[in-house]
Amino acid sequence: MVKIVAKYLFTGRGLIINNALLEYDEKSGQIISVDVAKQSDLTDYKFYDGAIVPGFVNAHCHVELSHLVDLFKQGTGMDGFIQQINSLRETVDAQGRIKALEEGMETLYNQGVSAMGDISNCSESFDCKSKSKIFTRTFLEVFGTEEVDAPGVIESVLELQKEALKYGINAAPTPHSCYTSHPKLIQMAAAEGLKSGYISYHSQESSQEEDMIRYGKGELSDDYNQRGCSVPKLNPDGALCYFLEILKPLVNIESGMVEENVILVHNVTTDQASIDAAKRVLKNSYWVTCPMSNIFIHRELPNLPLLAENDLNICIGTDSLSSNTHFSIVDEMKTIQNAFPQISMAQMIKWATINGAKAIGCDSQYGTIEVGKAPGLVFIDGVVEDQTGELRLTEQSKSVRII
Ligand SMILES: [Zn+2]
Repeated sequence: MVKIVAKYLFTGRGLIINNALLEYDEKSGQIISVDVAKQSDLTDYKFYDGAIVPGFVNAHCHVELSHLVDLFKQGTGMDGFIQQINSLRETVDAQGRIKALEEGMETLYNQGVSAMGDISNCSESFDCKSKSKIFTRTFLEVFGTEEVDAPGVIESVLELQKEALKYGINAAPTPHSCYTSHPKLIQMAAAEGLKSGYISYHSQESSQEEDMIRYGKGELSDDYNQRGCSVPKLNPDGALCYFLEILKPLVNIESGMVEENVILVHNVTTDQASIDAAKRVLKNSYWVTCPMSNIFIHRELPNLPLLAENDLNICIGTDSLSSNTHFSIVDEMKTIQNAFPQISMAQMIKWATINGAKAIGCDSQYGTIEVGKAPGLVFIDGVVEDQTGELRLTEQSKSVRII
């Protein structure tokens, strides 16, 4: 048994214990006890002068794109980003791509990521994920703008799913977004994914996406027209409402709602009307923010205080290294803290742990520091109290896995 004392312990459920004593099994990582440290307990312990938090849950990553680090221009908007991904994705050979994703997984693990929702378009990450200590749920993402191609796309993604199952990883199809996929394909992929209980969808990532769906104009719309693709039917209520309309035939007959977990990633342009519409259709929605990726591509952030006021299940993701300079959940949280100082550290830790664990269905083991669980333990240094007594990350804060 290992005994540690932490200046601050974040349970993951929004609670902070000052001067906490934590005991865990060295081999399994299972939590044996957690309490306020008493003077009589203080023998044979290790002291951590900072915060101990549960292992992080990275709710959105594309680890198979790790070889694209440092290749993309920043601030290009979504159209520029898509052009770069099309021209650069295959510039590194398979061996190089696999080496990069293995290093990516290791970096994520060492800085404290215990579980991850990860997007795959191919099988290159399956072997690594099957061997990793990180629990992963893999979303086999599809796109395609033409209705006629949809059955073929679904057929090949079901083949990819069979391959993933051979590696023993959890994987199911998911639709990518409204600006890459025909509504029929979105619906067919969602129907397949919901059989597993989970889909993950890129939602309201940019104003270009909104312009395309609301008004049929803007860079993404122009790109569709230039390439001669079938354009989406306009929806004046915006991109999320457009997606909800597509999901409506998939609702549970009794409740009239989609009951499975629907993970909405990005939400940069999400407003109150979109949230209200989602609450009417989605019983279990999760709202992932990838702040550093949003700044990288669009120089914009979602209205996180609005999402928080609505009591939504907010989660944090790193997105891929094509739209991020590095993997760091703590740096994602610093970005949020700098933009929205009203959001507390306890709130952000909850987003980065239990909310993500619920989103990808691993909360019985991960996401909180509780007796009997083995969530992984992470130390964050450089945590200070501000003038009001609120805990804050500092520029120097870093995370490291304890177990
Ligand atoms: Zn993504």
